[in-house]
Amino acid sequence: MPFQDLPARLAEVKAKIERARERGGRGQEVTIVAVTKTYGPDAATAAWDAGLRDVGENRVQEAAVKMTEVSAPVRWHLIGHVQRNKVKQLDDFHLVHSMDSGRLADALDEHGRARGRPMAVLLQVNVSGEGTKGGYEPANVEAEAERLAGMTGLLVRGVMTMAPFESDEATLRRVFAGARDVAARLRAAGLPATELSMGMSGDYEIAVEEGATLVRLGTVLFGARSA
Ligand SMILES: *Cc1c(COP(=O)(O)O)cnc(C)c1O
Repeated sequence: MPFQDLPARLAEVKAKIERARERGGRGQEVTIVAVTKTYGPDAATAAWDAGLRDVGENRVQEAAVKMTEVSAPVRWHLIGHVQRNKVKQLDDFHLVHSMDSGRLADALDEHGRARGRPMAVLLQVNVSGEGTKGGYEPANVEAEAERLAGMTGLLVRGVMTMAPFESDEATLRRVFAGARDVAARLRAAGLPATELSMGMSGDYEIAVEEGATLVRLGTVLFGARSA
């Protein structure tokens, strides 16, 4: 059976999330997004069989193929960069975590209006300032929030961020708290930004302590990726 360790791994992850939630004291619900990139469609099926309902992919094309191969009615999340000319291919996604620029926001808004149903998105924010990471700079969010609030083709449900790999705990907390602050500013501008997508296999416990509502987990559930 593929991914036969998944139920045991998942039980351990859930217990750790529960303890982190108690330590954090924010009382939020936490949803696990099973990140199946580079694995075959059987990873998404195994996730469903283990009781997970949310699956994340970082490439539109890879996800589109898997959507045709996976019969379980999982909710698909796009967690990687998307080009503006691909927004029409996002209709089968439950949530796009990676709205990383104003120009992409424009394209998503336009598509949401054209199809008559707003696109559910998270604003990706680059809190750490790493040049290799995409996303809005926190300093630019204030001005953008007003613009986003006027877009009828978009539903900005929250914020996504990634911490630098192998950060120390203080850096992780600073990055996650920075994302939390951006979400608060979006809400102040009238946006329904209640979700915080932050935390990966190496840092999800601290992310949950800092208020994550969505954790994006690959390796800790499925084992090391070869690609
Ligand atoms: C791959 C990926 C993850 C999952 O990473 P793991 O370390 O395997 O848990 C989470 N978020 C994004 C954006 C990713 O690309």
